[in-house]
Amino acid sequence: MHASVGYAEFHRRSIEDRDAFWGEQAALVDWHKPFDRVCNYDNPPFARWFEGGLINLCHNAVDRHLKDRADQNALIFVSTETDTERTYSFRQLHAEVQRMAAILRAEGVKKGDRVLIYMPMIPEAAFAMLACARIGAIHSVVFGGFASHSLASRIEDATPVTIVSADAGSRNGKVVPYKPLLDEAIALSVHKPTSVLMVDRGLAPFTSVPGRDVDYASARQLHLDARVDCEWVDATHPSYTLYTSGTTGKPKGVQRDTGGYAVALAASMKHIYMGESGETYFSTSDIGWVVGHSYIIYGPLIAGMATIMYEGLPIRPDAGIWWSLVEKYKVSVMFSAPTAVRVLKKYDAALIAKHDLSSLKALFLAGEPLDEPTAKWISEALGKPIIDNYWQTETGWPILSICNGVEKAPTKFGSPGKAVYGYNVKLLDDQTGEELVGGNQKGVVAIEGPLPPGCMQTVWQDDERFVKTYWSSVPGRMVYSTFDWGIRDDEGYYFILGRTDDVINVAGHRLGTREIEESISSHPRIAEVAVVGVADQLKGQVAMAFAVVRDASLLTDEAAKLKLEGEVMRLVDEQLGAVARPSRVQFVSLLPKTRSGKMLRRAIQAVCEGRDPGDLTTMDDPSALQQIKDLLAKTVT
Ligand code: AMP
Repeated sequence: MHASVGYAEFHRRSIEDRDAFWGEQAALVDWHKPFDRVCNYDNPPFARWFEGGLINLCHNAVDRHLKDRADQNALIFVSTETDTERTYSFRQLHAEVQRMAAILRAEGVKKGDRVLIYMPMIPEAAFAMLACARIGAIHSVVFGGFASHSLASRIEDATPVTIVSADAGSRNGKVVPYKPLLDEAIALSVHKPTSVLMVDRGLAPFTSVPGRDVDYASARQLHLDARVDCEWVDATHPSYTLYTSGTTGKPKGVQRDTGGYAVALAASMKHIYMGESGETYFSTSDIGWVVGHSYIIYGPLIAGMATIMYEGLPIRPDAGIWWSLVEKYKVSVMFSAPTAVRVLKKYDAALIAKHDLSSLKALFLAGEPLDEPTAKWISEALGKPIIDNYWQTETGWPILSICNGVEKAPTKFGSPGKAVYGYNVKLLDDQTGEELVGGNQKGVVAIEGPLPPGCMQTVWQDDERFVKTYWSSVPGRMVYSTFDWGIRDDEGYYFILGRTDDVINVAGHRLGTREIEESISSHPRIAEVAVVGVADQLKGQVAMAFAVVRDASLLTDEAAKLKLEGEVMRLVDEQLGAVARPSRVQFVSLLPKTRSGKMLRRAIQAVCEGRDPGDLTTMDDPSALQQIKDLLAKTVT
């Protein structure tokens, strides 16, 4: 549509001629009834996109492709945990989604009702999400790694009619039972669902609750020939809620609309990911996270692409597994996270290079800062463009990226690129709220309203919290805060310097832990590092670093550790100045992270300060935090 338009003009138009721009993008999806108004921003900061339009996400993801590609792959399920590989064509996916939709209807689920999905990465999870969209129910997927307390708070907030779950997930060959956690969560929650639909994978025997639990396989048999038409919903009808943790204990239900989301995803598939119908998209995320919603399920399917749903680790059976899938299914677009690449980096790059990757156009990475050594390593190993995306659960699709589908542009190491079309990104002084217009000034990354289509509408059932949390933190102006620090160079490339809430202050100097991490990880012997600010009587805070070394044998060699610690400190001195030098650099074999790969810096910080690390239910491997505790205990004595 705009192949000849330069990116700067494309972006300018998306802001200055917003309605015309998005009105055109809206043609990328099917509408049952056209919208009357592109953007209603009469009541800021609440944006209502495509008012008056009637649409259905499931129709756009599945039904509309039946005409041209009914027998092409839609969903490719690969589990290296259970050694299963199964493909579903669009026709088969259409049938399965209708069966699931019929089951949900039989359980009394109506338009606007919530369905909570607590599932491992199996096709039935995708069927359930799409079935909800089909009947206008609002899904709320809760990551399978959450334990009962976190799950209970989400059940209470979402008040689902039905919960869809499974007996178990599996991780690294170990069965992880879900049902006991779910039963406990329901017992803890004041709200009780009327029914629980159980997919029995035969991994972990469980007890059914009579009158409440429904066996999916038997229910499916009753609805094999189900025909459930798409329920046309208002464009502003909520499609889902997805919980993200905030600074308070209570999770926020990020609420997304339907029409704006469909348009935003379709446009992103074209302008950012450059995925074409008939090709294959492989996102290694999990349906429990926003990337899973947007780029395992809805985005690729809306674009008529096959999507790979992968259950397993990137290194099992060996570190070549993902790349063998790229070869086998001719993946053209791949999406992962830097943390996964750092895991792969410990293995031989030949495991990647031995596969035929000629179908792959680019690898997109998002979710956390992409450090330069990691970006360089994967870029050399793949020989493909590596594109860093910056976004949040709240936005649903990238805020910063290179948009090669509009105009090819170079990437810069350490930068997720420029403001994506639709996002009026500003850098603001956190104290005064003033806009920082000159290059290379550090400010809060903020977005001027209205947020573009696809971004959060509000906090579920809590408009006030939406306004208070996101739109009131910058003094003197109503602007959306990302809570991230950033700088922008003279060419408009942004660099993210970490969360505004992770900032540390050493002797009056403000430092982003991210900057120190970047510096430390440029040492060739360091694989990964976490830096936290720890309370210090003299300096207010000091930086403490915990680094994973590439060669684990160093961990038992005290003299070598001391030497490396000195080298790392000198490196930081050299790169950032002595003010940023960590008071200690300790070496560990792994770092505490959530299962989605986010570093649990707050937990590390709490442990360093002798405080309770708080809720650790999302932590991947508890031994990581224990290692830090042990190191600290040794240091004190
Ligand atoms: P989540 O909502 O869990 O996806 O977390 C969003 C946060 O992750 C952002 O506010 C950033 O702090 C961080 N983040 C996401 N993508 C990037 C990226 N490409 N570079 C740096 N930080 C990122």
